Amino acid sequence: MNLVNKIQGLKKEKKALLLAHNYQRPEVQDIADYLGDSIELCRKAMDEKDADIIVFSAVDFMAESAAILNPDKKVLIPSLGARCPMAQMLTAEQVRIWKKKYPETPVVLYVNTLAEAKAECDICCTSANAVKVVNSLDEDTVLFGPDYNLAWRVQRKTGKNVIPIPSKGFCPTHILFTKGDIQLMRDQRPDAVIMVHPECIPEVQLSADFVGSTSQMCRYARGTSATKYVVGTEIGLIHRLTKENPKKTFIPLSDGAICPNMKMNTLERIFLSLKEEKHVITIPKSIAKKARKALEKMLFLL
Ligand code: SF4
Repeated sequence: MNLVNKIQGLKKEKKALLLAHNYQRPEVQDIADYLGDSIELCRKAMDEKDADIIVFSAVDFMAESAAILNPDKKVLIPSLGARCPMAQMLTAEQVRIWKKKYPETPVVLYVNTLAEAKAECDICCTSANAVKVVNSLDEDTVLFGPDYNLAWRVQRKTGKNVIPIPSKGFCPTHILFTKGDIQLMRDQRPDAVIMVHPECIPEVQLSADFVGSTSQMCRYARGTSATKYVVGTEIGLIHRLTKENPKKTFIPLSDGAICPNMKMNTLERIFLSLKEEKHVITIPKSIAKKARKALEKMLFLL
């Protein structure tokens, strides 16, 4: 029996759900029960009342969010090494220091943070809803972290004073795109629409035709008539876009846009994770309770 069949068999036997982020390897995307961005997947996990186990094929903070929002399910991450470097850039202690400095200012944290940091914030956001979340707050100044580039976008779109915490948090994969990459594509593919993620640097965002999260890029590609798209995000999204739009062409803005952390989840690791029920995500109750409040506030807004 091949690995795919073994995984399918174990999923059935253990009433497990396999959720995969849009940046996962193609072969992982192909066997997932659901594919999506971090919050879409957490919602799926919440909707699937019959599942006992969730295998969250993504990085640490996403599996943590799924565990926080689904306390009655066992949440597994196939690879313990799949840790998002951006999420490591803002610790709970740092958030507490910023809060002391700006005691009246609400703290909005991108879901790309660890549970301890989320527990210190007022509300979470994703790259898809960050503008909406900040606009929902009465205050004109907000602390926002950890992604500087998303903070820049939110400030531009809301007109509020968005203070990035830390001052220069970033995604090591998205920060590599340059304005030169866009120019090159404009020269080589003048008929293509250029989409980029809001984790890209401001000058890349300003040079693109469309800026959006992975789910927004999928919707945009489905809903527009253009037949060629340059995709400025982690390369894994190309597989999903191509499958969903077989008559359209998707070209990576850079072939090197690979998040090594996302790619740690292989079929072998997923199989072992399911078989041995490892690695279980556990969050201390006091932290989970506070982080859940911040996540639910965001979900309530959508
Ligand atoms: S693509 Fe960037 S933000 Fe997403 S998991 Fe990888 S390092 Fe983190």
